[in-house]
Amino acid sequence: MGQVVLTVAKKTLSEMKDYYKAQIKPDVPPSALFVAKTPGSTITAYRSGKVLFQGKNPEAEAAKWGSAEQPVKKKVKKHTYHPPQSLFSSSHIGSDEAGTGDYFGPITVAAAYVKAEQVALLKELGVKDSKHLTDDKIRVIAKDIIHLEIPYILLKLNNKKYNQLQSKGWSQGKMKTMLHHHALEKLLEKIKPEHPDGILVDQFSEPDVYKRHLASEGNKLQENVYFMTKAESYSIAVATASILARASFVKAMEDIEADVGLTIPKGASLQVDRAAAAVIKKYGKAKLDDIAKIHFATTQKAYKYL
Ligand code: MG
Repeated sequence: MGQVVLTVAKKTLSEMKDYYKAQIKPDVPPSALFVAKTPGSTITAYRSGKVLFQGKNPEAEAAKWGSAEQPVKKKVKKHTYHPPQSLFSSSHIGSDEAGTGDYFGPITVAAAYVKAEQVALLKELGVKDSKHLTDDKIRVIAKDIIHLEIPYILLKLNNKKYNQLQSKGWSQGKMKTMLHHHALEKLLEKIKPEHPDGILVDQFSEPDVYKRHLASEGNKLQENVYFMTKAESYSIAVATASILARASFVKAMEDIEADVGLTIPKGASLQVDRAAAAVIKKYGKAKLDDIAKIHFATTQKAYKYL
């Protein structure tokens, strides 16, 4: 059933009431002026001037009275942790992760400290959102980053530990929070006595949720931490971290393939279900605990192949 909402003038509202008077229904919700029912749609007019058309073809009925408002584009939700524009060209730390949506392989988190004077060079080397780069390109750029001696910390949560934490009741959000936090702690320690102008976390949860996870483990947010979704498109430090995290994840997947002697696809898909089934067939299901995030639906789907 479709819906169309129009906003009409008071005058139109009374014209409508007149127009539909033979079809007006006795039951009217408290905030409505009238409800009318035509063969093709139900029309609810509100005192505010909003008119709701519902039914099989609400567009045709609504078109008699005006055109629907264009839905207002949802803006990027800003919160108090939104970074100032100046942060992107300053000496700052960025952090990002990889492997969270992949059934096989670890979660990797990287934090990198990029100085203002390195931003342009990193851009020139092709540092950008790792999602727009092939795995081969990521490998090359990761080497460039390391060659530039960009200070960074890379953490890897292997599957065994992941599955342990998960069965202990940790959400993936909490795991990511603690990984980002520890990566940032270690990096701040590493670059001492230098202080970054700020820290930008590629946002994966509301900052309040992040802080709650930290508090649950007795930790506190560092100073000058900002959160932003799609931060890797704005911050070279986050883009650098995203490449380092991705490169490490890609390497870990190659290691898994070499270990099991099977093709292990990334992500979660039909091919991944089949690969999981092949692993169980070859090694038994206990093997998945070492190489996969076993709470994913993939595990159940793999059983169906056997
Ligand atoms: Mg991210």
